[in-house]
Amino acid sequence: MKSGRQRRIEIKNKRAERAAILKSELEGKRYLEAKALSNTVVKANHNELLHNNTYGRFPDYYYDVVFNCVECGAAALWTAKAQKWWYEIAKGSIWSTASRCPACRKKRREEKEAQKRHMDDMANKRPHPNEAFFRRKQ
Ligand SMILES: [Zn+2]
Repeated sequence: MKSGRQRRIEIKNKRAERAAILKSELEGKRYLEAKALSNTVVKANHNELLHNNTYGRFPDYYYDVVFNCVECGAAALWTAKAQKWWYEIAKGSIWSTASRCPACRKKRREEKEAQKRHMDDMANKRPHPNEAFFRRKQ
């Protein structure tokens, strides 16, 4: 037969054990919920997708997608959040997907900007003082 003191210690230990399990479960659940909300699954808003002229079904959720860059072939991640931005805020076509990795996108954007700057410079350039000399003669 156990003494009252032994029994009390047993009960106390069991309670602590149960509390620890509950706490870890809760933390695990919170972690999964936070993870789901932050980067793996994002709910789609069909009203924001109406700019797409299609009879097809809109997605209910966006999921992270791994793809290979068309330029360098490196594996890249298109996050659910980025997809939501592209389809619903930037109003990208529902049929379009990411094709370039962040590094190649940056490189391409810089090249385009440099090209635009060059064209603007050319347009604003003062004409040569003897420009008629360079014109093709008819
Ligand atoms: Zn790339």
